Amino acid sequence: MQYTDTIYGDAAYMKSIYFITGSQDLYGEETLVQVAKDSKEMVSFLAEKLKDRADLVWCPTVIDADSCEDICLKATADKECVGVICWMHTFSPAKMWIRGLQALSKPMLHLHTQYNEKLPYDSIDMDFMNLNQSAHGDREFGFICTRLGIKRQVVAGYYKHEDVIAEIRRFADVAIAMSFSHGMRVAMLGNNMRDVAVTDGDRVESEIRYGWSVNYYGLGDVVDIISAVTEAETDAKMADYLTRYDMNTDDVASVRKQARYQVALEKFMAKERISAITDTFQDLHGMEQLPGLAIQDLMAKGVGFGPEGDYKTSALMAVLLAMAEGRKGATAFLEDYTYDLTHRSELELASHMLEVSPVFASSRPKIEVHPLGIGGKNPPARLVFDGIQGDAIAVSMIDLGDHFRLVCAKLELIQQPAPMPKLPVAQLMWKHIPDFKTSASAWIYAGGAHHAVVSTALTVEDIRLFAKLTGTELVVIDENTTLNSL
Ligand code: MN
Repeated sequence: MQYTDTIYGDAAYMKSIYFITGSQDLYGEETLVQVAKDSKEMVSFLAEKLKDRADLVWCPTVIDADSCEDICLKATADKECVGVICWMHTFSPAKMWIRGLQALSKPMLHLHTQYNEKLPYDSIDMDFMNLNQSAHGDREFGFICTRLGIKRQVVAGYYKHEDVIAEIRRFADVAIAMSFSHGMRVAMLGNNMRDVAVTDGDRVESEIRYGWSVNYYGLGDVVDIISAVTEAETDAKMADYLTRYDMNTDDVASVRKQARYQVALEKFMAKERISAITDTFQDLHGMEQLPGLAIQDLMAKGVGFGPEGDYKTSALMAVLLAMAEGRKGATAFLEDYTYDLTHRSELELASHMLEVSPVFASSRPKIEVHPLGIGGKNPPARLVFDGIQGDAIAVSMIDLGDHFRLVCAKLELIQQPAPMPKLPVAQLMWKHIPDFKTSASAWIYAGGAHHAVVSTALTVEDIRLFAKLTGTELVVIDENTTLNSL
């Protein structure tokens, strides 16, 4: 569940996806009646498969340029509509689609399928061929999409096959994430960390391309909200912590500071309708600790976060959480920290100075208070835990001046080989794919940041589709990567 939903009580909304069937008016009424009947049956089957994610809406068959334009304008104007699925039951001359496709601003899946799975060999005649000619009509439609430069996902196969349904579900996940992204508000508490390059970026271009409204807020305004947090509100937050975390410190006063920070940040985010935030240890005026526990718990509740003013990682995390909603697995920000460079069995230790999301915890996290050697503030309370295992991806967004690039690497999260009793922060460890030398070199050549969103819920294919539909350059690092091919 997205944090924004819980704050704003908007959980009841259901995103819709239009299913648009193409035909033409040359076949006569009888054929069009059959086209409508078939497509309704197909939509009702697919709607059942998608019902937990989106509402699949059957649309009347389009038969000419006006009906194409009408339905595409409707999809564009409908705020609940996150995407469209187009399918040509018969031939549908594609010049009639030009005005409609030019008016369409929602992500498109072109479903290349048929009403019938198998050919009826003993009864097939010309009427059957004219009615069921997606092989013909979808190629005509594909041509005009390519000619117009329409970003879309083409999914080929019988619509009842599990692989086809899975691809449609992926499209729904990505379309919902893109809809969430469009108009998302991101708050920067403090600016980008001084002199750091990769975390900076063009906020105007981010809003043009992804819809992110990224704005700076004075930390003093949040400090005022912190000052007004009551003891009762702090008590309630402490009680909430203890339902999920164990106290492993006598310094309760320091933990209560984090509870106050979190109560204040939640009030601030609700008031400003914020889905993702950044902070920086270089701008903590009026605060006694860097927010640690507070940010960790907020991330677990679905708030995007980037430290040191890294708004791109923060916003990307919120978008990827929206994409992964309802799936099993963990998604949050992490930082590349240090390596075990044992030859041919290299491992990476990922963490941050405090802010590692407890969604990555392999057992119940402990609340601890330790000094922080950076920032010159009091020892902050934080959650400490060891990380989960499993297949994962790391995704980094960088700004190359004239375009954004996503770098996506496959990882294998592993159990740490030995305890690290003196490490006062949470951590994850992973193996690189295909190997350390290839993956780390490729990431560095591609310009990937030291901050990334790590997810065990999403796959390279999800990120590939997001990149395709948003027109973002993508570099994938996986088992097929070689440095020469990169
Ligand atoms: Mn960092």
